[in-house]
Amino acid sequence: TPTLSAFSLSGRTAVVTGGAQGIGEAIVTGLRDSGARVFIADINPEVGEATAQRLGVDFVAADVTDSDAVEAAFDHVVSTAGRIDIAVNNAGIVHNHPSESLADDDWRKVLAVNLDGVFYCCRAAGSRMLAQGAGAIVNTGSMSGHISNFPQAQSAYNAAKAGVIHLTKSLAGEWAGRGVRVNSVSPGYVGTELTQRGMDNAEWRRAWLAGTPMNRVATPSEIAPAVVFLASDAASFCTGTDLVVDGGYTVW
Ligand code: NAD
Repeated sequence: TPTLSAFSLSGRTAVVTGGAQGIGEAIVTGLRDSGARVFIADINPEVGEATAQRLGVDFVAADVTDSDAVEAAFDHVVSTAGRIDIAVNNAGIVHNHPSESLADDDWRKVLAVNLDGVFYCCRAAGSRMLAQGAGAIVNTGSMSGHISNFPQAQSAYNAAKAGVIHLTKSLAGEWAGRGVRVNSVSPGYVGTELTQRGMDNAEWRRAWLAGTPMNRVATPSEIAPAVVFLASDAASFCTGTDLVVDGGYTVW
């Protein structure tokens, strides 16, 4: 049917940063299943190579905080696959520490990966897509870009994610007339390595579930379809939007 075929990514080339594990791995799987040729770009070559092999996709090593490395990774994708149609800028880290004693380095590290890294990847993907006159970028935001989490302190993370959502809107406006769409997906709590420490903490776990109307965390595979949608022609009139997938967390 025309509606379902608009979700097909057949013939498209995609890059997913932070695709070695967690939400990124599920996004890689979703894009692959929808027909795209996918490259995992990750700082961790051991896990990244193994995941790529298991999923039958490509791997390219890249630290998103290094803009030269990001450019080299996108060059590798374009020279290998011939083009870049979809960029999912998903790599991220969290640091939990009270703000009154947060060290400069810890603030900077979170901003470097979660905001600078997303900008470097958007710039690398966007410049190549604008030259083609087509492309779709999906950034991983977070509900933390809309609310501030409780009870854990993570001001750098929350500020970076708010930045990702507004960077997304800014780029969407700049590039909308030239064929490049830029959107974000903002998950609530998802069961991955990033949230494992919190889920192992009885107080945090209780607060996280109590704050989520659905009273559970998501699986990574519940986030991936939102990314596939925004990356596909099914979202041809979506740009600058943030799709919140949070089990209702932000309604309370
Ligand atoms: P994860 O820790 O399981 O995976 C993160 C991946 O990013 C890893 O493969 C890691 O190697 C990679 N990475 C880290 N630093 C990198 C760098 N500098 N360059 C390249 N790759 C790097 O985490 P996850 O939960 O899957 O998170 C993925 C994204 O989703 C992040 O942006 C995170 O902030 C966001 N998010 C997660 C949740 C959640 O509850 N898990 C909620 C909202 C948003």
